[in-house]
Amino acid sequence: MEAECLFCRVVSGEVPGDVVYENDEAMAFRDVNPQAPTHVLVVPKEHYANLAELAGSAPEALTAVARAAGEVAARESLDGNYRVVFNTGAGAGQSVFHCHAHVLGGRSLGWPPG
Ligand code: AMP
Repeated sequence: MEAECLFCRVVSGEVPGDVVYENDEAMAFRDVNPQAPTHVLVVPKEHYANLAELAGSAPEALTAVARAAGEVAARESLDGNYRVVFNTGAGAGQSVFHCHAHVLGGRSLGWPPG
């Protein structure tokens, strides 16, 4: 846990989160500023700054995050139509430097993303 990390504090319960699913290594909670009818963030419970760091240091936790994303999509009845996004780096829109997958669905999603 990193004391200054917002998502570490959500995982610990210090900051309230609207948790929709969790497994041993991942937690899923609703984004406070949703960009789609379903917009859930899935985080590893341990702190890793981004996807590459997670994959390199804890591939089993990456698998737990991927499984949780699929479970969220099923529970939200997205019918297999959803997007999973890992913004990486400030230049690509990452604002919280604790790895997280955005699970977006419930509307049509344009391509390419902005
Ligand atoms: P990113 O910009 O890819 O790093 O995504 C960070 C996301 O976290 C944004 O979509 C924010 O709306 C969301 N967010 C910020 N604070 C919270 C919070 N306390 N609980 C849930 N989502 C949050």
